[in-house]
Formats: sequence, structure tokens, C-alpha cells
Amino acid sequence: MAAKVTRSRRSKAGGRPAGLPCACCGIAPGVGGKPLSVTFEQPDVVNEIHPELLDTWGGDPFLAIKSVGFFVRVVLPIKLSDGFAVDFGTWLEVPSEDFRSAWQTWNMPEYKDLVLEGYLANVIAPWPEFPHALVKATVRDLDEVPVVTSSGSGDLMAVMMVEWPHARILAPYAEILRAEPMPSPAEDSGSK
Ligand SMILES: [Zn+2]
Repeated sequence: MAAKVTRSRRSKAGGRPAGLPCACCGIAPGVGGKPLSVTFEQPDVVNEIHPELLDTWGGDPFLAIKSVGFFVRVVLPIKLSDGFAVDFGTWLEVPSEDFRSAWQTWNMPEYKDLVLEGYLANVIAPWPEFPHALVKATVRDLDEVPVVTSSGSGDLMAVMMVEWPHARILAPYAEILRAEPMPSPAEDSGSK
């Protein structure tokens, strides 16, 4: 089953594209260069577990899956050409202690110092699965979920450094990025 993606934005500062759609791909860049948002609703592993065997605690941004692991929502920012950028809302699988400290500090001033290390829990098209390597996420903004800032995988680091052709990277998500109307406020209000 394909991963379910939406364009909901997991921050208080929800960006609503108002620019003109691009002539090449029909997708409008975010206002003032704000990143577009593509959000994976769940870690991919959820799709591999028979629903009857799926035993979870929490939801978004904290999801524990019995006998599988602990997941925290993060953002993977990608630079794109022609004034585009995209924030992929994805998940990190983290050790239980990190899961707990994220949960405890999430709405506290200490949140700014939160550092998570874990493994990306979604395969993000158009890239193939990244090598299983530790990924680090830190806090860029108190109102946003942690942002992936470095990785032990050279492949993933390279992906984060490069400015990618926007049409190619956004193609798998073009349908939801072009879709109108925009998500309802209820869907779009996913602050951290
Ligand atoms: Zn385009």
C-alpha cells in the first residue's frame, strides 16, 4: 500500500500558496519562498503490519507501535529550483528514552534544546530508500516540529545540500499540490 501523504503543515505558521502556478508543472510556489508542505501521515511500517496486529499508542506527533518502535514527527527540508522549496513531514524512529524526553519537553522552553537521533521512517519519492543511517533532528523554531539537520548517510546529506529541479521532485505529489480547495482549517491546523 502506498504511503498516505497530505499537504497539511505541522506548524502554527501554515503557509498557503498564493503565487501563480508555475508554467512548467502547474504548482504554485509558497508565498515569499515559504516551503511547500508534503506530509507522510504515518511511518511506512504501519502499512506493513496487519491491522489486527497493530497496537499503537499516541498518534501525531508521537507514535509508539508495540513490538516495533517509537516515532516522532520531523521535517526534512529540501531546496528546489525557481523559488520553490519543500518540507517533507516525515518520522524518525528514535530510542524510547528520546521519545520520552521529546514528549516531556515538547511544550516547554527546553524544547529548543531537543536533539533527536534516529532513523527515517518513510521512503520519500523520488529518492530510493536511504541507507539505514542515523539522522539528527534539531529545533529550528519553537512552533515547529524538529528539523532534520544532519545524517550519517552521505546520500541523505547530499540530498539536503543540493538544489533540486522542482518539477522532478514535486512530480510524485503534483496531484495534491495542485489540488483545490486547500485543506480545511481543521486539517491544516496541525501545530506541533
Ligand atoms: Zn514548475
